[in-house]
Amino acid sequence: MQIDAPHEAIEFSVSDTGIGIAQADLARLFTPFTQLDSGLNRRHEGTGLGLALVRQIVDLLGGSVHVTSAGVNCGSCFTVRLPWIPRFSPLPQPAATTQENATTGRNANGASRKQATILLVEDNETTIALMREYLRMHYQQVLVARNGEEALSTAFEQHPDLILMDVQLPILDGLSAIEQLRELPDFQKLPIIALTALAMPGDRERCLAAGANEYVTKPVSLRDIRGMIDRYLGGTCS
Ligand code: MN
Repeated sequence: MQIDAPHEAIEFSVSDTGIGIAQADLARLFTPFTQLDSGLNRRHEGTGLGLALVRQIVDLLGGSVHVTSAGVNCGSCFTVRLPWIPRFSPLPQPAATTQENATTGRNANGASRKQATILLVEDNETTIALMREYLRMHYQQVLVARNGEEALSTAFEQHPDLILMDVQLPILDGLSAIEQLRELPDFQKLPIIALTALAMPGDRERCLAAGANEYVTKPVSLRDIRGMIDRYLGGTCS
């Protein structure tokens, strides 16, 4: 693993001592359903989808993947490069005025953090970990609820400034939770962004009909979500 702080990137490399790749085959490597040895008697199993999936996931995250090999039987080295926001900058940050501190707070990177409470309603732990970490860098407080009922009780107790609501949730689904919130005067104007895993025809209409302000299909771009959140919170964010 290597950190490229100036370019806000992080690289992971995996090397093996396996069958290696001929120079001529490198270009075909990331094509779906492609096995370099595609003969019926081939010695290596697989669907030929693994690397195509890696490349798609890395693309979605705004990164890149590349491979080097010294040739057949000389092993290969795969490198994934992803955008990365350093949490602890080695560079001294300009001191914020007391006023700024009071209104925005500062995250570990010295960038301003909005004085806002975001409620993330999500039942997938991986998504929670990823989004909570990102949101915490930009907003003062991030609350997590793992089902619709928890979302309601957290909203009643903590009065978040905005809710990110997954639609498919145990106990009480996201759309029902939104509907219940909208029936209460306190929550009629609360910005709610619905997140759905699968784009199905009519999804958007159902989310908006339930009372969501926006509808986003996963996988979401964290930067896009942040832009959307900031639009609802008003003002700009660094
Ligand atoms: Mn879910």
